[in-house]
Amino acid sequence: KIHVADLHKAFAGNEVLKGITLDVYAREVLCMIGPSGSGKSTFLRCLNGLEEITSGTVEVDGQRIGDPHVNLNQIRENIGMVFQHFNLFPHLSVLKNITLGPTQLKGVSVAVASDQAKKLLAQVGLEDKATAMPNSLSGGQQQRVAIARALAMDPEIMLFDEPTSALDPEMVGDVLHVMQQLAENGMTMVVVTHEMGFAKNVADQVVFMDDGIIQEAGTPAAVFEHPQNARTREFLDKVL
Ligand code: ATP
Ligand code: MG
Repeated sequence: KIHVADLHKAFAGNEVLKGITLDVYAREVLCMIGPSGSGKSTFLRCLNGLEEITSGTVEVDGQRIGDPHVNLNQIRENIGMVFQHFNLFPHLSVLKNITLGPTQLKGVSVAVASDQAKKLLAQVGLEDKATAMPNSLSGGQQQRVAIARALAMDPEIMLFDEPTSALDPEMVGDVLHVMQQLAENGMTMVVVTHEMGFAKNVADQVVFMDDGIIQEAGTPAAVFEHPQNARTREFLDKVL
């Protein structure tokens, strides 16, 4: 579970998050939508301690991020993150990309990590790509490897920052399909996305962020079909 209360984040006096409050319960999917520059990536980065919080509270499974008594590395192992630009290690095979974290950070043996990696590759539809190098794969394939790599750490929470925005349109569906399966299997997920269809079908909660504030939040039906806020309506008119 993620609990965020009155989260503020400023960069050199420029306030980017202006009091964000939300909860994501276990097995829930929250989709965050909103215009460029509204603070969505900054918000995700605050959830796993990649950004220092200016004020407010971020708790993950009861552990407060930024508390000096809390082991941030341990929290991060529990939170997988997938980015727009995959960020695979280009000099390592697909299999090595996936086994690196478990073997280096968790002390898992190479044999066990490799078995696990092959299962994850099958789960994302890439069982035949273990020995491939990342740059020989399509964008959609690379992104599915990135998801498998994050899953290899056996996280309880997955954060996605526009995972399909850098992909050719025909690649998007495969990646969304993998994400939808994860959601159906009960993964707790926070997904920043422009894929309104995914948000409608998969999200438990949709949050519309604009100007560092949650302008509107609710079920997909409420936010997409009955938006209350003029800014939400304006945004949806542009993207739907
Ligand atoms: P996009 O949809 O384009 O990815 P976003 O909603 O993810 O946008 P953020 O990347 O969170 O937006 O950025 C929000 C604001 O914070 C922007 O004005 C950005 O310039 C600023 N910002 C983000 N990171 C930093 C940083 N490290 N230093 C200074 N300003 C930053
Ligand atoms: Mg962003």
